[in-house]
Amino acid sequence: MLKIGSHVSYGKDGLLGSLEEALSYGANTFMFYTGAPTNTIRKDIDTDLTLKAQELMQEKDINSDDIICHAPYIVNLANKSDLDKFNFSINFIKNELERCRKLGIKYMVLHPGSAVGISKSEGLKNIIEALNKIIMEDDYTMILLETMAGKGSECNTNLEELKTLIEGVKLKDKIGVCLDTCHLNDSGIDMGLFDDYLEEFDKLIGIDKIHCIHINDSKNELGSHKDRHENIGFGTIGFDNLIKIIYNSKLEGVPKILETPYIGNFDGDKERLYPPYKFEIEMIKNKIFDKDILEKIRAYYR
Ligand code: FE
Ligand code: FE
Ligand code: ZN
Repeated sequence: MLKIGSHVSYGKDGLLGSLEEALSYGANTFMFYTGAPTNTIRKDIDTDLTLKAQELMQEKDINSDDIICHAPYIVNLANKSDLDKFNFSINFIKNELERCRKLGIKYMVLHPGSAVGISKSEGLKNIIEALNKIIMEDDYTMILLETMAGKGSECNTNLEELKTLIEGVKLKDKIGVCLDTCHLNDSGIDMGLFDDYLEEFDKLIGIDKIHCIHINDSKNELGSHKDRHENIGFGTIGFDNLIKIIYNSKLEGVPKILETPYIGNFDGDKERLYPPYKFEIEMIKNKIFDKDILEKIRAYYR
Protein backbone atom coordinates (compact mmCIF):
# COMPACT_ATOMS: atom_id res chain seq x y z
CA MET A 1 0.00 0.00 0.00
CA LEU A 2 1.23 3.49 -0.86
CA LYS A 3 2.13 5.49 2.25
CA ILE A 4 1.99 9.13 1.27
CA GLY A 5 1.82 12.33 3.29
CA SER A 6 3.53 15.62 3.89
CA HIS A 7 5.21 17.76 6.42
CA VAL A 8 2.50 19.26 8.67
CA SER A 9 2.48 21.80 11.51
CA TYR A 10 2.36 20.83 15.17
CA GLY A 11 0.88 23.84 16.96
CA LYS A 12 -1.24 24.05 20.09
CA ASP A 13 -3.07 20.74 19.63
CA GLY A 14 0.19 18.85 19.26
CA LEU A 15 0.02 15.53 17.45
CA LEU A 16 -3.78 15.74 17.16
CA GLY A 17 -3.52 18.97 15.17
CA SER A 18 -0.87 17.45 12.91
CA LEU A 19 -3.02 14.38 12.30
CA GLU A 20 -6.10 16.45 11.47
CA GLU A 21 -4.09 18.53 9.01
CA ALA A 22 -2.71 15.36 7.37
CA LEU A 23 -6.21 13.86 7.09
CA SER A 24 -7.42 17.03 5.37
CA TYR A 25 -4.80 16.36 2.66
CA GLY A 26 -5.94 12.76 2.12
CA ALA A 27 -2.66 11.50 3.59
CA ASN A 28 -2.10 8.22 5.44
CA THR A 29 1.19 9.33 7.00
CA PHE A 30 2.81 12.67 7.92
CA MET A 31 5.88 14.33 9.36
CA PHE A 32 5.98 16.97 12.08
CA TYR A 33 8.40 18.88 14.29
CA THR A 34 7.56 18.75 18.01
CA GLY A 35 7.92 22.57 18.07
CA ALA A 36 9.42 25.23 15.79
CA PRO A 37 12.09 23.68 13.52
CA THR A 38 14.18 26.83 13.91
CA ASN A 39 14.47 26.85 17.69
CA THR A 40 14.84 24.52 20.65
CA ILE A 41 11.95 25.84 22.77
CA ARG A 42 9.63 22.90 23.53
CA LYS A 43 6.25 22.65 25.27
CA ASP A 44 5.42 19.60 27.40
CA ILE A 45 3.57 16.78 25.63
CA ASP A 46 -0.16 16.87 26.40
CA THR A 47 -1.17 13.30 27.30
CA ASP A 48 -4.89 13.85 26.68
CA LEU A 49 -4.38 15.27 23.20
CA THR A 50 -1.91 12.48 22.39
CA LEU A 51 -4.48 9.86 23.43
CA LYS A 52 -7.10 11.55 21.27
CA ALA A 53 -4.67 11.53 18.35
CA GLN A 54 -4.00 7.83 18.84
CA GLU A 55 -7.72 7.08 18.92
CA LEU A 56 -8.31 9.06 15.73
CA MET A 57 -5.42 7.25 14.05
CA GLN A 58 -7.00 3.92 14.86
CA GLU A 59 -10.36 5.10 13.56
CA LYS A 60 -8.77 6.33 10.30
CA ASP A 61 -6.58 3.25 9.92
CA ILE A 62 -3.31 5.14 10.24
CA ASN A 63 -0.38 3.24 11.69
CA SER A 64 1.63 5.34 14.17
CA ASP A 65 4.77 3.51 13.01
CA ASP A 66 4.39 5.32 9.67
CA ILE A 67 4.48 8.77 11.28
CA ILE A 68 7.77 10.62 11.25
CA CYS A 69 9.17 13.28 13.55
CA HIS A 70 11.84 15.71 12.34
CA ALA A 71 14.47 17.13 14.69
CA PRO A 72 14.98 20.91 14.46
CA TYR A 73 17.52 21.70 11.76
CA ILE A 74 19.46 24.26 13.76
CA VAL A 75 21.06 21.55 15.89
CA ASN A 76 24.57 20.86 14.59
CA LEU A 77 26.25 17.69 15.87
CA ALA A 78 29.26 18.11 13.55
CA ASN A 79 30.76 20.98 15.49
CA LYS A 80 32.53 20.59 18.79
CA SER A 81 34.44 23.88 18.97
CA ASP A 82 31.97 25.15 21.57
CA LEU A 83 31.72 22.23 23.97
CA ASP A 84 28.74 23.65 25.88
CA LYS A 85 26.81 23.98 22.65
CA PHE A 86 27.81 20.46 21.55
CA ASN A 87 26.60 19.00 24.86
CA PHE A 88 23.42 21.08 24.72
CA SER A 89 22.68 19.65 21.25
CA ILE A 90 23.28 16.09 22.46
CA ASN A 91 20.92 16.54 25.40
CA PHE A 92 18.37 18.29 23.25
CA ILE A 93 18.22 15.41 20.74
CA LYS A 94 18.01 12.90 23.60
CA ASN A 95 15.07 14.91 24.90
CA GLU A 96 13.43 14.92 21.46
CA LEU A 97 13.70 11.11 21.41
CA GLU A 98 11.93 10.99 24.77
CA ARG A 99 9.20 13.29 23.44
CA CYS A 100 8.80 10.92 20.50
CA ARG A 101 8.44 7.99 22.87
CA LYS A 102 5.66 9.83 24.73
CA LEU A 103 3.94 10.47 21.41
CA GLY A 104 4.39 6.84 20.28
CA ILE A 105 6.54 7.86 17.30
CA LYS A 106 9.13 5.36 16.12
CA TYR A 107 11.28 7.42 13.72
CA MET A 108 12.96 10.81 13.95
CA VAL A 109 14.75 12.37 10.97
CA LEU A 110 17.96 14.27 11.69
CA HIS A 111 20.20 16.51 9.58
CA PRO A 112 23.56 15.14 10.74
CA GLY A 113 25.31 18.53 10.74
CA SER A 114 27.69 20.92 8.99
CA ALA A 115 31.47 20.86 9.36
CA VAL A 116 31.88 24.62 9.79
CA GLY A 117 35.57 25.62 9.88
CA ILE A 118 36.74 22.01 10.21
CA SER A 119 37.34 19.14 7.77
CA LYS A 120 34.55 16.82 6.68
CA SER A 121 36.23 13.87 8.40
CA GLU A 122 36.47 15.85 11.63
CA GLY A 123 32.78 16.71 11.30
CA LEU A 124 31.82 13.08 10.71
CA LYS A 125 33.86 12.05 13.75
CA ASN A 126 32.01 14.57 15.92
CA ILE A 127 28.62 13.40 14.64
CA ILE A 128 29.53 9.79 15.46
CA GLU A 129 30.64 10.78 18.96
CA ALA A 130 27.38 12.65 19.49
CA LEU A 131 25.22 9.81 18.12
CA ASN A 132 26.91 7.32 20.42
CA LYS A 133 26.12 9.59 23.37
CA ILE A 134 22.52 10.03 22.24
CA ILE A 135 21.48 6.52 21.20
CA MET A 136 20.71 4.12 24.05
CA GLU A 137 19.82 0.42 24.08
CA ASP A 138 16.29 1.00 25.40
CA ASP A 139 15.38 3.87 23.03
CA TYR A 140 11.93 3.51 21.49
CA THR A 141 12.62 5.93 18.65
CA MET A 142 15.19 5.42 15.89
CA ILE A 143 17.19 8.30 14.42
CA LEU A 144 17.12 8.50 10.62
CA LEU A 145 20.11 10.28 9.06
CA GLU A 146 18.92 12.41 6.15
CA THR A 147 20.90 12.45 2.91
CA MET A 148 21.96 16.07 2.39
CA ALA A 149 22.42 18.31 -0.68
CA GLY A 150 25.95 19.45 0.13
CA LYS A 151 25.05 23.08 0.77
CA GLY A 152 27.97 24.82 2.49
CA SER A 153 29.85 22.26 4.54
CA GLU A 154 26.98 19.82 5.15
CA CYS A 155 27.91 16.28 6.12
CA ASN A 156 26.23 13.12 4.79
CA THR A 157 26.17 14.15 1.14
CA ASN A 158 27.21 10.83 -0.39
CA LEU A 159 27.07 7.08 0.31
CA GLU A 160 30.64 6.94 1.61
CA GLU A 161 29.89 9.50 4.32
CA LEU A 162 26.65 7.74 5.20
CA LYS A 163 28.50 4.45 5.49
CA THR A 164 31.13 6.07 7.72
CA LEU A 165 28.42 7.43 10.01
CA ILE A 166 26.51 4.17 10.28
CA GLU A 167 29.67 2.14 10.82
CA GLY A 168 30.66 4.49 13.63
CA VAL A 169 27.40 4.05 15.52
CA LYS A 170 27.69 1.28 18.10
CA LEU A 171 23.99 0.39 18.35
CA LYS A 172 23.46 -0.34 14.65
CA ASP A 173 19.85 -1.50 14.93
CA LYS A 174 19.01 1.94 16.37
CA ILE A 175 20.12 3.96 13.32
CA GLY A 176 18.43 4.33 9.95
CA VAL A 177 18.28 6.55 6.87
CA CYS A 178 15.90 9.08 5.34
CA LEU A 179 16.42 9.72 1.62
CA ASP A 180 15.51 13.13 0.19
CA THR A 181 15.08 13.24 -3.60
CA CYS A 182 15.85 16.97 -3.89
CA HIS A 183 18.96 16.60 -1.77
CA LEU A 184 20.11 13.56 -3.76
CA ASN A 185 19.65 15.46 -7.05
CA ASP A 186 21.48 18.49 -5.71
CA SER A 187 24.27 16.30 -4.35
CA GLY A 188 24.84 14.88 -7.84
CA ILE A 189 22.73 11.70 -7.99
CA ASP A 190 20.60 11.52 -11.16
CA MET A 191 17.07 10.63 -10.04
CA GLY A 192 16.43 9.27 -13.54
CA LEU A 193 18.89 6.53 -12.58
CA PHE A 194 17.43 5.94 -9.11
CA ASP A 195 17.49 2.14 -9.47
CA ASP A 196 21.28 2.25 -9.91
CA TYR A 197 21.57 4.40 -6.79
CA LEU A 198 19.37 2.03 -4.83
CA GLU A 199 21.46 -0.93 -5.92
CA GLU A 200 24.62 0.84 -4.79
CA PHE A 201 22.87 1.84 -1.55
CA ASP A 202 21.89 -1.75 -0.93
CA LYS A 203 25.46 -2.96 -1.47
CA LEU A 204 27.00 -0.40 0.88
CA ILE A 205 24.30 0.23 3.49
CA GLY A 206 21.31 -2.08 2.96
CA ILE A 207 17.87 -1.03 1.69
CA ASP A 208 16.29 -2.14 5.00
CA LYS A 209 17.92 0.91 6.64
CA ILE A 210 15.60 3.25 4.69
CA HIS A 211 12.57 4.15 6.84
CA CYS A 212 11.46 7.41 5.23
CA ILE A 213 11.76 9.19 1.88
CA HIS A 214 11.32 12.93 1.42
CA ILE A 215 9.73 13.42 -1.97
CA ASN A 216 10.63 16.82 -3.40
CA ASP A 217 11.35 18.17 -6.85
CA SER A 218 14.37 20.47 -7.09
CA LYS A 219 14.68 24.08 -8.29
CA ASN A 220 18.29 23.45 -9.25
CA GLU A 221 20.40 21.37 -11.62
CA LEU A 222 21.92 18.00 -10.81
CA GLY A 223 24.93 18.49 -8.51
CA SER A 224 24.17 22.16 -7.74
CA HIS A 225 24.61 21.68 -3.95
CA LYS A 226 21.79 24.14 -3.34
CA ASP A 227 18.86 22.46 -1.50
CA ARG A 228 15.85 24.38 -2.76
CA HIS A 229 12.73 22.24 -2.97
CA GLU A 230 10.26 22.58 -5.86
CA ASN A 231 6.67 21.40 -6.28
CA ILE A 232 6.21 17.93 -7.73
CA GLY A 233 6.63 17.99 -11.51
CA PHE A 234 7.85 21.60 -11.71
CA GLY A 235 11.54 21.04 -11.09
CA THR A 236 14.61 19.44 -12.60
CA ILE A 237 13.78 15.91 -11.37
CA GLY A 238 10.36 15.83 -12.97
CA PHE A 239 7.07 14.07 -12.33
CA ASP A 240 7.84 10.74 -14.02
CA ASN A 241 11.10 10.20 -12.16
CA LEU A 242 9.44 11.00 -8.83
CA ILE A 243 6.52 8.66 -9.55
CA LYS A 244 8.96 5.84 -10.32
CA ILE A 245 10.65 6.39 -6.96
CA ILE A 246 7.35 6.64 -5.06
CA TYR A 247 6.07 3.40 -6.58
CA ASN A 248 9.41 1.53 -6.51
CA SER A 249 8.46 -1.97 -5.34
CA LYS A 250 11.63 -2.27 -3.22
CA LEU A 251 10.49 0.69 -1.12
CA GLU A 252 6.82 -0.17 -0.92
CA GLY A 253 6.26 0.02 2.84
CA VAL A 254 8.39 3.13 3.32
CA PRO A 255 6.52 6.38 4.16
CA LYS A 256 6.90 9.05 1.45
CA ILE A 257 6.77 12.61 2.79
CA LEU A 258 6.34 15.78 0.70
CA GLU A 259 8.28 18.89 1.78
CA THR A 260 7.43 20.93 -1.28
CA PRO A 261 6.97 24.72 -1.02
CA TYR A 262 3.68 26.44 -0.29
CA ILE A 263 2.07 28.19 -3.26
CA GLY A 264 2.22 31.98 -3.23
CA ASN A 265 -0.68 34.14 -4.28
CA PHE A 266 -0.99 37.92 -4.21
CA ASP A 267 -4.16 39.11 -2.60
CA GLY A 268 -4.09 42.89 -3.05
CA ASP A 269 -0.48 43.65 -2.16
CA LYS A 270 -0.20 40.91 0.45
CA GLU A 271 1.20 37.50 -0.49
CA ARG A 272 -0.68 34.53 0.92
CA LEU A 273 0.80 31.04 1.01
CA TYR A 274 -1.25 27.87 0.48
CA PRO A 275 -0.22 24.27 1.22
CA PRO A 276 0.01 22.23 -2.01
CA TYR A 277 -0.18 18.82 -0.34
CA LYS A 278 -3.84 17.88 -0.86
CA PHE A 279 -3.38 18.40 -4.58
CA GLU A 280 0.08 16.90 -4.92
CA ILE A 281 -1.04 13.78 -3.03
CA GLU A 282 -4.04 13.41 -5.33
CA MET A 283 -1.80 13.80 -8.38
CA ILE A 284 0.60 11.17 -7.02
CA LYS A 285 -2.29 8.76 -6.39
CA ASN A 286 -3.54 9.31 -9.97
CA LYS A 287 0.01 9.12 -11.39
CA ILE A 288 -0.91 11.83 -13.88
CA PHE A 289 0.83 15.22 -13.94
CA ASP A 290 -1.51 18.21 -13.93
CA LYS A 291 0.33 21.25 -15.25
CA ASP A 292 -2.49 23.54 -14.07
CA ILE A 293 -2.31 22.36 -10.48
CA LEU A 294 -0.81 25.55 -9.04
CA GLU A 295 -3.76 27.60 -10.35
CA LYS A 296 -6.19 25.00 -8.95
CA ILE A 297 -4.57 25.27 -5.52
CA ARG A 298 -4.90 29.07 -5.61
CA ALA A 299 -8.54 28.79 -6.65
CA TYR A 300 -9.27 26.22 -3.92
CA TYR A 301 -7.90 28.30 -1.07
CA ARG A 302 -9.02 31.71 -2.38
FE1 FE B 1 15.13 17.43 6.54
FE1 FE C 1 14.16 16.57 3.64
ZN1 ZN D 1 15.97 20.21 1.95
